[in-house]
Amino acid sequence: MTVDSKSQNGVNGHSAATPAEKIQNINGQGGQPELAKLDASKLTIELATCLKPLQEPETLRFGMNFTDHMIVATFDPLTGWSIPELKPYGPLTLDPSCSCFHYCPNVFEGMKAHLGPDGKPRLFRPNMNMRRLEGSAERMALPPIDGDEVLKLVKVLVTTDARWIPEGESFSLYLRPTIIGTRASLGVTASDSAMLYIIASPSGPYFPQGFRPMSLFAMGENVRAWPGGTGGHKVGGNYAPAFLPQRIAAKQGYDQVLWLFGEEKNITEAGAMNFFVVVQRDDGDMDVITAPLDGTILPGVTRASCLIIAADPSFQEKYKLRLHIHERTFTMKELMQWSEQGKLVEAFCVGTAVSVGSVNRIGFEGKEITLPLNGAVLGPVSYAIREQVLGIQEGRVQWEDWSVLCEE
Ligand SMILES: *Cc1c(COP(=O)(O)O)cnc(C)c1O
Repeated sequence: MTVDSKSQNGVNGHSAATPAEKIQNINGQGGQPELAKLDASKLTIELATCLKPLQEPETLRFGMNFTDHMIVATFDPLTGWSIPELKPYGPLTLDPSCSCFHYCPNVFEGMKAHLGPDGKPRLFRPNMNMRRLEGSAERMALPPIDGDEVLKLVKVLVTTDARWIPEGESFSLYLRPTIIGTRASLGVTASDSAMLYIIASPSGPYFPQGFRPMSLFAMGENVRAWPGGTGGHKVGGNYAPAFLPQRIAAKQGYDQVLWLFGEEKNITEAGAMNFFVVVQRDDGDMDVITAPLDGTILPGVTRASCLIIAADPSFQEKYKLRLHIHERTFTMKELMQWSEQGKLVEAFCVGTAVSVGSVNRIGFEGKEITLPLNGAVLGPVSYAIREQVLGIQEGRVQWEDWSVLCEE
């Protein structure tokens, strides 16, 4: 009679060995466990035998369609990171007790691959996403992750599924590297197990009906982030609490929430985008202002890039702009004063999804601030920055090492 291995090992399929014995088995001689690091060079590849039909680019809706493959790796507290696998896109199987389903130690990134004029896919400043992913994982007490290895995996997924990147301006492949805590226990404690997965979604213009300005509803009641909180990290738990305020804003006829914080009603972010204003100065130049990275603001890659671009003399010369850049706290009161004095030239939102999007009105306590777009869809400053950002992302404009090819 053969003995079922499960009953031999005890309940739940767990081996009867104690953790110490397990470690000894792994190392052969015992001693401290050598946890395997995430190693992209070991990636195993199982290609889909049946490829999905591509969707017409015009019918793409954000985050609704996924490519043929995904990449998955898992972290085990005794052995470290598994060998990463590229395999057909499909459901994950997880124990319902996993930490991710209860306490949300989940972090993610959002980045895009664009086709350049040479037809090659490229990423925009991906190292910044990877450093941010490492920081988010650390904040959620997840196992340490090497972002450089994640980036190598991202590049493999992009090149494998490159046929999914629609040609043409404002089309891209949206990439979503995600790490979730998979400790299978209800204990309220850090997840010592994790899963990394990378999925990819072909994406079209942010406004499928054509580019247009956004309206914002300045929210006094609910806050997105607070000092000492997690607003400065891309952690999943930050987003669901914003859904009800977003619904309230939509009911009032606005596109996005303008998140305020504190007694002075500091202006922080808009929706899941960083927020900028342009204010006319007495000397004829313009101030470009965004909130500082004080821990309540998500350190956007687009935000950082807009700040560098806007401050650049050759950029200002090219677009005949004279700009002064400020990362500083500013309030609803100031915004209303600038508007009343006719000094509020522009407001705009930035992020990977929208790139740079203009704002035409901001509702606050029953009043409304309107932005002078003079019939255009973007003001002069946001137009120029958007042109520059898209040009770099699509490989048409050279800017330092910001555009990174996926194939070596
Ligand atoms: C992701 C995100 C942004 C934009 O960051 P990018 O790196 O530019 O895409 C801004 N605010 C919030 C809250 C975000 O989640």
